Amino acid sequence: MADKAPKPKIDRKARVQKPPHHARIRPPRARVRDFEEVVIPYTREEAMLEASRCLQCAAAPCQAACPLDNDIPRALRLIEAGEIVPAAAVYRATSVMPEICGRICPQTLCMEACTLHRMGKPIDTRRLEAFAADTQRETVRVPHPTLPAPTGKRVAVVGAGPAGLTVSEHLTRRGHTVVAYEKRPHPGGLLRYGIPRFKLNREVVAAKVTWLEQLGVKFRCNTTVGRDVTFDELREQYDAVFIGIGTPQDFSPGIEGEELAGVYTATEFLVRGNEPDPDPSFKVGPRVHVLGGGDTAIDCLRTALRLPGVTDVTCYYRRSEAEMPAHEQDYHYALEEGARFEWLACPTHFWGDDAGRLRAATYQRMELCEPDESGRFWPVPIPEATFTVEVNTVVLALGYRGDAAFNRRAPELETKWHHLIKVDDEATGRTNLPGVFAAGDVVRGADLLAPTIATAAQVAGVMDAYLQKK
Ligand code: SF4
Repeated sequence: MADKAPKPKIDRKARVQKPPHHARIRPPRARVRDFEEVVIPYTREEAMLEASRCLQCAAAPCQAACPLDNDIPRALRLIEAGEIVPAAAVYRATSVMPEICGRICPQTLCMEACTLHRMGKPIDTRRLEAFAADTQRETVRVPHPTLPAPTGKRVAVVGAGPAGLTVSEHLTRRGHTVVAYEKRPHPGGLLRYGIPRFKLNREVVAAKVTWLEQLGVKFRCNTTVGRDVTFDELREQYDAVFIGIGTPQDFSPGIEGEELAGVYTATEFLVRGNEPDPDPSFKVGPRVHVLGGGDTAIDCLRTALRLPGVTDVTCYYRRSEAEMPAHEQDYHYALEEGARFEWLACPTHFWGDDAGRLRAATYQRMELCEPDESGRFWPVPIPEATFTVEVNTVVLALGYRGDAAFNRRAPELETKWHHLIKVDDEATGRTNLPGVFAAGDVVRGADLLAPTIATAAQVAGVMDAYLQKK
């Protein structure tokens, strides 16, 4: 693609002095009252100003850190010149969903790799990506590619989440017929049901799905493979099968009282809590505890804070703040919005009332032992140090596993730890069954979006080669 913006002469010293114009964030007190996105989108002028700080580094560490190899310096050069739609095309050359990556990628990838990060003012690469992609979609629309002649080959995609959508797009672009099976009412998987609306609004996901439908991808929603159609039927009816079902099973800690009304898994809590009209049986608060220290726990805390009737939201984590795996920015947002954190506390018992509703939780105080050879500080209980607090809702955000029920219905498929699917190599996605491929969280365990769509795109290439030879 021709770069319309000539490479400008860069006065790096002058650019380093420029103040950052990062995307603005809605004030905590305003944003916590609703589910609207917390980040205020860039205006054209703001985006051009921010892009004009880019040093156009020869080695492009931002691009090197991007799992999708987005040509960030080139896109920023175009944004700086006001060529927003061509900039979007640069992102779309390597990413199937830049408007989504620009919203939910953590700052630890391109932004922390940015040369200017060392000076505490990295370029707001993610929000510029979202801005360019949104502008294209909302103004001239995202163009559909000219498809090659149909190959006559048919592919079943199981799971219409990030990996499934990526494979569906790449294989349709190569002339294959793709039918994506999704157990939930709408495609999108984690993007539609796992990421809170205040981080990724549903219109963006719906627009991507509509675009794929117009491209030719067929979605069969409310269809569970293994129940409504068998895995063997898919193998018989299609030339290849792709499995991208993610890690839909929440880890259960096996604590007494876990079955009480008011104890939710993170998946159920995020799905129901982010519905625009939650059903009346979804009762939350006033006191909410979220257990866990990862990004999902933070998403649950921030969702709880937005729900009516909730007055007190606390995260309980068995290690200390320093070990918490959640990304720093979202942790900071949660603190701003009013979440509290109780470190070195591990749940041991949930207590219910006569009606079987949660009323209290007991926690064990922990301390960190000396680091083991891997450098990890393991939490160990402090003898006889427990405490019990009143609580109405507990959310278990302790990690995810693969889909054991799916695996049982596909017994010939080789699996590995945590019910994940075994492949010969993540880059090929080949399972032990001929013509069956897998990628994304179902292979790697819960991961970030960008690496997932990067490997799914690679696997789509391998599947295409397989289909061409078939
Ligand atoms: Fe621009 Fe930062 Fe990338 Fe350098 S590392 S090219 S300053 S975005």
